[in-house]
Amino acid sequence: MKKIIPTLILGTMAGLSANAYVDKNFNYHVDRFADIEVLRYEVPEFDRLTPQQRTMVYYLTQAAQMGRDIIWDQNGRYNLQIRQLLEKIYQNYKGDRNSADFKAFEKYLKQVWFGNGIHHHYSTDKFKPEFSKEFFLEQVAAISPCCLPLEEGETPEAMTEKLTEVIFNPAVMAKRVNQDGTQDVVATSAGNLYGEGVTQAEVEAFYNKMKDPNDATPISYGLNARVVKDENGQLKEQVYSLNGLYGPAIAQIIYWLDKAKSVAENDAQKAYITSLIDFYITGDLRTFDEYSILWAEDTKSDVDFVNGFIESYGDPLGMTGSWESYVNFKNAKSSSRTETISSNAQWFEDNSPVDKRFKKENVKGVSAKVINAAMLAGDAFPSTAIGINLPNSNWIRAAHGSKSVTIENITEAYDMASHGNGFNAEFVIDEPTSKLMDDYLYITDMLHTDLHECLGHASGQLLPGVDGDALKENGSALEEARADLFALYYLADPKLLELGILDNPEAYKAEYYKYMLNGLMTQLNRIELGNDIEEAHMRNRQLVAKWALQNGKKKGKGGKDVVELVKKGGKTYVKINDYAALRNLFGTLLAEIQRVKSEGDYKAGNDLIQKYAVKIDPKLHKEVLDRFSKLDIPPYRGFINPVYTPVVNENGEITDVTISWPENYVEQMLRLSSEYSPLTGKTGKSAGQCKR
Ligand code: ZN
Repeated sequence: MKKIIPTLILGTMAGLSANAYVDKNFNYHVDRFADIEVLRYEVPEFDRLTPQQRTMVYYLTQAAQMGRDIIWDQNGRYNLQIRQLLEKIYQNYKGDRNSADFKAFEKYLKQVWFGNGIHHHYSTDKFKPEFSKEFFLEQVAAISPCCLPLEEGETPEAMTEKLTEVIFNPAVMAKRVNQDGTQDVVATSAGNLYGEGVTQAEVEAFYNKMKDPNDATPISYGLNARVVKDENGQLKEQVYSLNGLYGPAIAQIIYWLDKAKSVAENDAQKAYITSLIDFYITGDLRTFDEYSILWAEDTKSDVDFVNGFIESYGDPLGMTGSWESYVNFKNAKSSSRTETISSNAQWFEDNSPVDKRFKKENVKGVSAKVINAAMLAGDAFPSTAIGINLPNSNWIRAAHGSKSVTIENITEAYDMASHGNGFNAEFVIDEPTSKLMDDYLYITDMLHTDLHECLGHASGQLLPGVDGDALKENGSALEEARADLFALYYLADPKLLELGILDNPEAYKAEYYKYMLNGLMTQLNRIELGNDIEEAHMRNRQLVAKWALQNGKKKGKGGKDVVELVKKGGKTYVKINDYAALRNLFGTLLAEIQRVKSEGDYKAGNDLIQKYAVKIDPKLHKEVLDRFSKLDIPPYRGFINPVYTPVVNENGEITDVTISWPENYVEQMLRLSSEYSPLTGKTGKSAGQCKR
């Protein structure tokens, strides 16, 4: 069998990185605090780009960083003020930087930077400061009142009192995104996507009135707006646009996008940048759809980017997009793998275990590529995805296709930073399974991401007249489950060997084992004891794993359980007795979840979520946490970005751009706040002075 990705297979077998470009001396580890590890990532093939492409990357990274304040403000109405205050304290502090209070303060600030606000990026719970209120008040008092980040008309006393409550009172703004369907999820979420006093029922009524059930090409309602009450108590949108909400940041984004347009690779790329700028100017969601179509259809450009209000996980109702940006370019070496997958998209659609009525007759334009991230920003920074599939609009995906990418250099950095961390020895049941994972987990993990993004999300269709939002608060988790199941089902398919993507029919077992282990046990490391699972991807993983565990009882070969939890030396292990039967279970659940989505069967979807995805066995949970605590593996990781420096000629023109990694985490965060903070009046290198 011909291997189309020999470096991947060789690399993992040797326990080294998969990418031929990897520099073994590159230092991935940057910082470690709370439940977080910060890494840096390499940007392979940056040298391969032309100077013009590198200049375009530079302009796009500027546009990316200029949006940072937007996500901070979306995440909470006091976040920007708190960030300014904390940074001022951090820089002003004259006392002992090794004192317990200062250390705790520094940890809190690092957490706030990582969360783009005072809530955890993943659990969305508010951070608990471990420094004293007295310490905080003392430090605020030590700052000259003219340097305090006061709001219009606010006194230092009022600001201090307000922010002390917000930071120290656990009951105030406790959770950024509350998904508990038994409560008013809008009123009880602390994010800043809805104004004071707005309720879930009001928002739903507001948008339902706007929606036309017969509209075949609906806009993404609410995607770029904060919903508030006007003076008469009526709801209205505050639209994110040049002359609307976040105008000063959007103006900077437009400025740099326009520069990028001047060095764009081709007319198609120029056209979508123009359209995106138009959208930022007007805030018109029809224009956003036009942009999305142009963007999805441009599969030729090498350098590419996302910049806008995209994913809606930050909104309890799943409508408003969190601002994010990815700047990237093709990883030429690995793109051939996803091109092979996507060029066979119709075969995968036709042969899936899903009911024929729910399949697409023509899977359109499932483009797929492997990219290297050059910059992560907004909601994609410091914590980031390893794969993206956009646009999100259902009808655009159906009619014009979507772009699917696997972010190889990020996946690789995760992999490189994980070697020798003791995870396998602690959690994997036996040596052969561990060996299989050492040999094949990297490639099957990458493939799982490829299949999830290029085929999973793009597959299937709604029955006519079914509302895309019919699954409501369970929509995200069920959609992720659908994409994961599609990927899992096909990972074990001989088609992948036939296509030359895998060289061993057993390889898929590495990913199956990891998936079940993660879904049943190890992902619980991210949850505090006593809490339920809330985040959509985590719900999806537990749903899939627990459903397979429970529905595979006595269904394996010889009447054994397909999967079981066994005890060895007092510890719980996942044991898979019949991998082929597990594949069939994945197929069965895929068919059911596709039915739920295609028919908009809210009740069946909600039953699945409530039965399998939410609750945790507290005994097992405690065991997982205990075993992890001995390993000291951070549950969450994220990245700082490299620094891009323009090379300028005597006429002041940029002729090329260089890349470097000179900063640690604190240095990068402070620089971003002083140079890329349009909503607090700071842009450019000379900024950052006390204004009054
Ligand atoms: Zn997904």
